[in-house]
Amino acid sequence: MKDTLDDDVLVYRLGTGCDLADIEEGNVYQGKVQGFATFGMFVQLNDRIKGLVHKSNVKAEHKERDSILVRVRQIRPNGNIDLEEILIQVYQVQNIERKSTTVRIADLSTKVGKTVAIEGEIAQVKQTSGPTIFTIVDETGTQNAAAFVEAGVRAYPEVELEHIVKVIGEVMMRNNQLQIEVDAMTALTGDDAVAVKDRIEKALDLRSEPEDIPLLVKSEVMEKLRPEMKKVAKIIRKAVFTSQPIILRHHADADGICSAVAIEQAVVSLIRESGGDFDADYFLFKRAPSKAPFYEIEDITRDLDFALKDHVRFGQKMPLVLLTDNGSTEEDEPAYKIASVYDIDFIVVDHHHPDATIDKYLKAHVNPYHVGGDFGITAGMLGTEVARLINPRVEPVIRHLPAVAGVGDRSEAPERALFLELVRDQYPEEACKDIALALDYEQFWLRFNDGREIVKDILNINGRTERHKKLIALLVDGANTMIEDQMSASMPHVVSRVLANDAHLFLLDVEIHAHKFTFPPPGKTSGEVHDRLCREHAGKPVVTIGFGPDFAVLRSRGVLMNIPRMVRELRVELPGGGISGGGHLVVGSIKFVEGMREVVLEALIKKIADAQVQQLA
Ligand code: MN
Repeated sequence: MKDTLDDDVLVYRLGTGCDLADIEEGNVYQGKVQGFATFGMFVQLNDRIKGLVHKSNVKAEHKERDSILVRVRQIRPNGNIDLEEILIQVYQVQNIERKSTTVRIADLSTKVGKTVAIEGEIAQVKQTSGPTIFTIVDETGTQNAAAFVEAGVRAYPEVELEHIVKVIGEVMMRNNQLQIEVDAMTALTGDDAVAVKDRIEKALDLRSEPEDIPLLVKSEVMEKLRPEMKKVAKIIRKAVFTSQPIILRHHADADGICSAVAIEQAVVSLIRESGGDFDADYFLFKRAPSKAPFYEIEDITRDLDFALKDHVRFGQKMPLVLLTDNGSTEEDEPAYKIASVYDIDFIVVDHHHPDATIDKYLKAHVNPYHVGGDFGITAGMLGTEVARLINPRVEPVIRHLPAVAGVGDRSEAPERALFLELVRDQYPEEACKDIALALDYEQFWLRFNDGREIVKDILNINGRTERHKKLIALLVDGANTMIEDQMSASMPHVVSRVLANDAHLFLLDVEIHAHKFTFPPPGKTSGEVHDRLCREHAGKPVVTIGFGPDFAVLRSRGVLMNIPRMVRELRVELPGGGISGGGHLVVGSIKFVEGMREVVLEALIKKIADAQVQQLA
């Protein structure tokens, strides 16, 4: 750097409100001596900016409040400014007005190469082996800001998750992604913080509001559920816009998968559209199947374990948990209780008969029973409509999912036919049945994994229709072969009774008369047996019980049972039965202790015999 300057040099005077972004290295500024230290002298450039003139760069004697000219040698990554004193007699002064008005994150792409100021909330703090990466959210978007002190050392340790900050830095392109290289970051406090937080909150609230779009089909029940579906969509959109991780748990059957995948498509595309890391859709969104048709302690424990680790390791927020085809019954309560210790927010999209006791744990709950509907409106139908509200642009790739879900869950609601009609050209009913079976079969092999990409091929979401068709043909063939094996072993062992209410009851011991630990598992085996017996006894009320040593799976046609209520009653009536369970009104399961099996089954059958039967066409 030159030590002498020409006479016509420009000296800048910083106006009030100017900050770091208004200063340039190499320029000369008018300042005021603020104080002294052993290593040099502090100089104020305006009311908020000060720098240090190291003693080696001090050229004259000074006292406090002396006017002084300084040149900016360097602005350090932590915002510290190195100055040197300049002695010149003749110069021009130019006033600098504040130019770094804050920029909205959505506008950063037009500012590459420029130094800007942004204000926002810290949504994540991730320490890399190089810089510290702060994810910042404002009312328009999400952006990463990299701050560097030393490799692997946490920059701005005083700035924490959910702080409101002002960041000044240069807008850069890194690996084709925008990023801010931080010059200075300050956590705002008091009124400043409140004002920014309010502004962001209000704007985010508006931005999260779903578009008002009509349903895919005409449905009175779903129309009544629209306000609650919009509420769910809004909570999810807000989570995406604030970089809150989302965990989506769903029942591991075709209906549950359709529901969850529809929402997955909407959320993942919204995450990608709203900026942040290129792989944000992977660490901010997780889909996981639950084996039981409820959120088990095992599930919450696993989710909580991962969430807490991510919180500590990657500075992530605690997640929002969404349950679909799952979550509305008292079987879920133990998991909710655990989650409530950690203030985890839950939303539920389900069509199981809900227990009112669990609503206190939920932020929102879409359930057809709340508006006079029933399980015929399946989770896949509801999930797809919620997905469209989250991000309407995904509709073309998910509009067949409700039809698949409807046949998968054997819906008898009029909506089933409407959703099938909607996609009849590309996915006739037989194709939907095949897809549903392929989903069930593949999920059996996937076990606890979500199979994100395979499932997309099964549902033809990737648009590779040829591969989709090959895969479906193969899976359907595999599933049917195994089902036939199972049926030829099981059907001869079905025992029948006619009950007092004229219902035909069929019993099968799946423990000894079915292959174990293979496809179809006991629940589906009982379902297949039930379907065959229903066909054999057309027009008759039919109940099928597939039982093992300590469980029974129930299915009914034309018998008006309420399985969750029967389970609750048996629990009271048979104190030593170790009874639990639930499910839908007419499709469900019950667990008990092995030594009480005969007693429990007989008591259960007595209740079925007391149930009303429906006149079938
Ligand atoms: Mn379902």
